[in-house]
Amino acid sequence: RAKSLGRGKICTYEPSMDEANRVRAELAIDLKRALAGNELELHYQVQNDTSTGDIVGFEALIRWNHPQKGRIPPDAFIPIAEETGLIVEIGDWVLRTACTTAAQWRLPFKVAVNVAPMQLNHDLPRRVAEILKQTGLAPARLEIELTETGIIADRQHALHVVLALKATGVTVAMDDFGTGYSSLSTLQAFPFDKIKVDKSFIQAVETSAHAAAIVKATLLLGRSLNIPVLAEGVETTRHLDFLREEGCNSVQGYLFGRPMPVEIVNRMIDDAKASNQPASDTRKAPT
Ligand code: C2E
Ligand code: MG
Ligand code: MG
Ligand code: MG
Repeated sequence: RAKSLGRGKICTYEPSMDEANRVRAELAIDLKRALAGNELELHYQVQNDTSTGDIVGFEALIRWNHPQKGRIPPDAFIPIAEETGLIVEIGDWVLRTACTTAAQWRLPFKVAVNVAPMQLNHDLPRRVAEILKQTGLAPARLEIELTETGIIADRQHALHVVLALKATGVTVAMDDFGTGYSSLSTLQAFPFDKIKVDKSFIQAVETSAHAAAIVKATLLLGRSLNIPVLAEGVETTRHLDFLREEGCNSVQGYLFGRPMPVEIVNRMIDDAKASNQPASDTRKAPT
């Protein structure tokens, strides 16, 4: 009885592996069409100064609106884009779209763009410089986000790329800090302009003394190295209170806003612009 159950298990396991591979292969084909077919979209999530609450920038996050399958999250298709090499073209599109959008904002907020490991091997600094020139975005307004996994393959080359990126005038942030193999030695070797503490630590600060200690230590580290620290995944006022108390520079998370479509972000920026300059605010009729 047990034996046949075991055999049955194997039989149902194998087809499901095939099924998973089939779905991936299908997505890979669909993804090629997605780029040309306007199915990709960038959403933008606000980043705020922790002490003043002022908006400091927005992170661009890719969305895929699949015509049949609906919205597919980046974690489900970015790895496929990397395997197929399509990430280079998608990465270009992301950079170009984010820079075009930010160049049109009425306030000079920064835009942060995630870059995949493979993009580092395809002339990233030159592409970035070209896109900045074409879109007219000031280099200082673009932040490139790199994760440690993007760096481990060839650290020497990655360092070269980061230095070349910085030479164009953009800033470079280390994303998902604390989740890599050797975050500390990466931090030592690379001249990052910002540390983004991974959301898994922030979300555990209330329930795990360890997580709280790690966040505190990271903030201390940032302060001693003179590198500003941003906390991701800030969802509650208690997260925010903790981060404020510990001197975190900036914050990003659902407490301040979900990633939003570009029209909503543009309206939000127009409002911010209007409230800074009451004289030009035509919505308030004089009484
Ligand atoms: P990431 O760069 O670390 O982005 C942060 C992720 O956390 C985003 O997920 C964001 O929606 C989510 N998030 C933000 N605030 C909160 C919060 O308060 N709570 C929770 N639970 N989550 C929050 P998303 O948009 O699904 O993106 C996932 C990952 O996909 C990104 O992680 C990034 O690694 C990758 N990705 C997104 N867009 C791009 C892109 O244009 N290019 C590349 N190469 N990767 C991208
Ligand atoms: Mg990121
Ligand atoms: Mg992150
Ligand atoms: Mg991440």
